[in-house]
Order: sequence, then C-alpha cells, then structure tokens
Amino acid sequence: MLGHGDPSFVAIFGRVLSRMREVFRTKSAQPFVLAGSGTLGMEVAASNLFEPNDTVVVVETGVFGARMVNILERQGIRVVRVTAEVGDAPPLDAIDKALATGNARAITVTHVDTSTAVLAPVRAIAELARRHGVLSIVDGVCSIGAEAMHQDEWGIDLVLTASQKAIAAPPGLSLLSLSPRAIEAIRTRKSPVRSYYMDLNGWLPVMQAYEAGKPAYYATPAVGLVRSLDASLERITKEGMDAREKRHERIAEAFRAAWRALELEEIPRSELCAHTLSAVRYPEKVTPELVARIRAEGVAVATGLHPQNRDSYFRVGHMGEIGSAEVLTTIGAIERALRAFGHAPATSGVAAAQQVLTER
Ligand code: PMP
Repeated sequence: MLGHGDPSFVAIFGRVLSRMREVFRTKSAQPFVLAGSGTLGMEVAASNLFEPNDTVVVVETGVFGARMVNILERQGIRVVRVTAEVGDAPPLDAIDKALATGNARAITVTHVDTSTAVLAPVRAIAELARRHGVLSIVDGVCSIGAEAMHQDEWGIDLVLTASQKAIAAPPGLSLLSLSPRAIEAIRTRKSPVRSYYMDLNGWLPVMQAYEAGKPAYYATPAVGLVRSLDASLERITKEGMDAREKRHERIAEAFRAAWRALELEEIPRSELCAHTLSAVRYPEKVTPELVARIRAEGVAVATGLHPQNRDSYFRVGHMGEIGSAEVLTTIGAIERALRAFGHAPATSGVAAAQQVLTER
C-alpha cells in the first residue's frame, strides 16, 4: 500500500480530481473525494450547505428522496416535500410553487431514483432553482457516469455520486462536485459544520493541494479505493462522456424493446425511464420468486425497493462497463425464468433487443 503522501499517490489523487471535472462536465466546480458511501455524500451536502431552521425543498421520486428528507430533518432543517405517485415525478409547476412560497435556501432532487427507475428532469429543476435564487443539489448516485448531466451548463451547485454504480469502481467512495456558489455558501456559514470529518472547509485545501501535485492532510484518504477509482476514471475518460451516454441510451433502448416484446410493463412513466436501470412489473402469474430463478440462470437482478409496491416489480441494473453481450445474456436469463413461471408471450425479448443492438 502506498502512503498517502507518496509522490505516486499524489499523482494518482491529483489525476482523479481533474478527471472528475470531465465526468461532471465542469470547469468551475471543485471536486471532493471522501471515504464513505453515497449516503455520506448526502449527509455532507446537508451538513455543509445548511444550518438548523433553514428550509429546503425536496423533490421526491422514490426511496432516496425520502432518505434525503430524513437526513435533512435529523439536522434540524425544515423540509418542504414535493412528491408524486410511484413511477412519476412531480410537475414543474408544483416545484415552482414550492420554491415560490417556501422561503427555501435550496432544492434537492434525485437524478435517477434507484427504487423506481424514475429519471427526474434535473436540468429544468436546476433552471427553476436559478430563477428563484436558491442552491440546487443533485443526488447522482445512480446517474453520474451514464446519464447526461452538465454541471456548469445546467447551473447545478452540488452534485454527488458514489464509486460503485455507473462509475464502476468498488464501493466505498463518495464523490462530490461543488460550484463556486456552493463553496461560498459553506465559507460564509454563520456556525461551524457540526461534524469534523464531513466539514468541507477542512477538505478543500487538501483537494486543492493534491490537484496541484502536493500532499496535504485533514484525515487519511482511502488510498486503495482512490487507486481503483483512478482506473475507472481512466476507462471513462478514454471512452468519453458523450460516447458513454450514447452507449447507455442504446443499451436502455434494447432493454425497453425486450420489455415490450415480453409484454412487461415498467414502473416509470415512459418519458421518465432511466437509462441506468429498469424497474419492471411482474406479469400475472409471476411472483417475486422470479428474482431467485433469474439468479439461478447466472444473472443478478434485484427485487423491488419502494415500500408501497416492492413485491410487484423487479429491477435490472444496466450501467457501467457493460455492452451487447451483457444485455443479451441478461434478457435471455429473464426470458427463460419468465417462461418457467408460465409467462410465455409470442415474441422474444432477446430477438427484440438484438434488433435494436443491430440497428443502432
Ligand atoms: N442515492 C441513490 C439514488 C442511490 O441509488 C443510493 C444507493 N443505492 C444512495 C443514494 C445511497 O448510496 P449508498 O448506498 O452508497 O450509501
């Protein structure tokens, strides 16, 4: 293991931070990498940007929006929730109204809620935030590295993600990118951040030093995980973000064609389907046992996650380092498992996906 002051680790960490700017599509924002999972990033956002009694509007499209509400409320922050039915996102005018009446300091939104596979209209929400003069925070745990997200162009103040999803590195790192406005908000807080470890004022000079080629210390970085992240970011930047987004769109389209051929319905409204995962309803006769049956075919899919309807759907992740081979293998396993449960539509999911993959 390298020491965190070792010149070769300094070079690695510096490179990670500058490549993060490519992934987050930003020149002006400041990247941070902390040891911890995506939830740490959510807590870092809440504890650095706000003080008790601030008001924050939360756009809730599933379990992870609800988690953000929980995190904010634990810190004494007032929350105005804007919710929607499972599979939907709240209309922009409802969000606009909440911002107009709520005396809010910020708005948070989950880019892709992993519990529902809903892709929220982040760009339009960030634009509303700008218009109301409030900070915008995007939970991009299930989107960054796959879905389009242009931090500078879209004017987003804080974007957070984790290492283990579309970034395709091992779990254990929380990645954040803060606009100059967000950094200024933290610098000019009335009270210090309550948590020592999470205080970005402490981490800022460390991130700046590593990117400038010098070691610095606040708390020990997760050296091994940062090296893994470096390997992932190298692959990501080599592929290029435009190509990466297109690859995820093509794969998602192939999965969608398969769901139609297999006569399966998705949880999200069709305009809101994420490109990083699918949430698919069990057809009649099929029970949650399907997930174990698919696993027995050698493919890992997940059960439902939303407390309102978790036993009525399953989830298929399709993000990160995957291509046509994984798409066809996955759909093939699902198709065989469905047929074993007596769900046997006339058309083949594999054939439908193959057609999309051939034509696109
Ligand atoms: N937000 C979203 C959208 C997520 O999907 C997850 C994890 N599934 C989290 C936050 C929390 O991340 P972690 O599990 O890494 O703490």
